[in-house]
Amino acid sequence: MSQTINPISVTTRARTTASDASVLARLCEIVGAEHVLVDPERVEPYAQDAVKEKFPPEAVVLPRTAQEIAAILKLANEARFPVTARGGGVGYTGGAVPVEGGIVIGTDRMNEIREINADDLYVIAEPGVTTYALQQAVEAHNLFYPPDPASYKTSFLGGNIAENAGGMRSAKYGVTKHYVLGLEVVMPTGEIIRTGGKTSKNVVGFDLTGLICGSEGMLGIITEAILKLLPLPEATRTVRATFKTMREACACVTRFTRARVTPVAIEVLDRNAIRAVETEFAFGLDQNAGAILIVSVDGAVAEVEHASRVVEKALREGSGYDVMRAVTREEEDRLWDVRRALSPAMKKFGTLKLNEDVVVPRSRVPELIERVEAIGQSHKTFVVNFGHAGDGNIHVNFMCEREDKEAVRRARDAVRETFAVAIELGGTISGEHGIGYVKAPYLDMAVDTATIETMKRIKRALDPNGILNPGKMFV
Ligand SMILES: Cc1cc2nc3c(=O)[nH]c(=O)nc-3n(C[C@H](O)[C@H](O)[C@H](O)COP(=O)(O)OP(=O)(O)OC[C@H]3O[C@@H](n4cnc5c(N)ncnc54)[C@H](O)[C@@H]3O)c2cc1C
Repeated sequence: MSQTINPISVTTRARTTASDASVLARLCEIVGAEHVLVDPERVEPYAQDAVKEKFPPEAVVLPRTAQEIAAILKLANEARFPVTARGGGVGYTGGAVPVEGGIVIGTDRMNEIREINADDLYVIAEPGVTTYALQQAVEAHNLFYPPDPASYKTSFLGGNIAENAGGMRSAKYGVTKHYVLGLEVVMPTGEIIRTGGKTSKNVVGFDLTGLICGSEGMLGIITEAILKLLPLPEATRTVRATFKTMREACACVTRFTRARVTPVAIEVLDRNAIRAVETEFAFGLDQNAGAILIVSVDGAVAEVEHASRVVEKALREGSGYDVMRAVTREEEDRLWDVRRALSPAMKKFGTLKLNEDVVVPRSRVPELIERVEAIGQSHKTFVVNFGHAGDGNIHVNFMCEREDKEAVRRARDAVRETFAVAIELGGTISGEHGIGYVKAPYLDMAVDTATIETMKRIKRALDPNGILNPGKMFV
């Protein structure tokens, strides 16, 4: 293990006995020996997520059915070992890594799309389907599944639901939980439950679907999801503009609303982000610019033609320059290339990227970014800000060298100060990446004691032996 984790006191701790021969034999009986991995090189890919800190599990178990997962969880309660569910393993807060040992349940084999219903607008899928595969499958029927985390090619639906993932289209369409109609879930003690159903209206009993969405694999393992679909929009159009200041750029967001247009995506890049991509890829951007906005609209062809012209006008009236409106898919791609180039461009600014995803009411984004820039300067840390101006969710990236302990400490101090600013501006510490173990030390900055205690009471009630994903969320 590369890091010591503070023990938590939510529940009686699960003991780590997953590698006992008798436990391994029982796991092999449940899923078949070929689906229990113990060789270090086969376990290795399950030891880390996008945080890139390694916590190798004692074994990886790859079940095919909810019944198998139920049997594994009953065994885990009997023998008292921790169980951590894993989707695509591209989470940004360490949710899928077994920080307290035990086994990882990989959902890789649970990747069937069971039903696409165009009349009633839902799809039923298993948790191991990637977001991309689901989008492709429904789009073939002219249907639309809006949640689009940038990790969509590798993230799984189970991980998306457990993290309540957002994405660029959240500005118009909301986040994953807005599309979850019903779930099949294996509870931490091994019972299989069904929440919600196939209808968009359902107020029978407590909203357990809502409870499981965003529960970070701590309250149950999702084994099937019924997801809401929309008709596929006919077309998209994209407009990009450059601004001298972040304030001018962000003021355009409310101009769109006043012009009665709701863009599907409004992405912003700050000054350092522009310099980083321009230095690395020479797109011809103004290196002295304060911000770039990339705005997309979707809908019927006539509608997007009109909306994109309204957006273009609003950007120009808002002091935008170098305004470009794409009409063809190729032109659109070129406008978005600037945004896609960000991750590779940032690599030269440090081997460690502390990638935060604070969120504030969208009108406060300029103030957030100005204050984050000042925090970066006072901690001598290069900071790049970009993200979703349409919903106030900004990715704040403090860059440093992993081996430079002093620089890492300064960057971590900068993160804490950034969280304080986000909260002061009426926002919070995470818009889409969740808490996991990485942000657990900061939970009490954003949530009061009584509310945290209520969350812990729910956890204890559903998982009395502390089996499922211990070491997360609460320090
Ligand atoms: C390059 C990159 C871009 C990203 N962009 C975005 C973005 O735009 N928006 C966004 O929201 N996030 C983004 N993320 C973060 C991340 O991809 C999302 O949180 C995603 O939803 C994680 O899915 P996953 O399948 O990889 O989950 P994992 O990392 O495998 O797991 C995440 C959590 O879900 C739990 N879990 C997994 N499967 C199940 C299940 N079946 N039942 C119960 N719990 C389960 C795990 O225990 C863990 O706590 C990005 C990450 C990267 C690396």
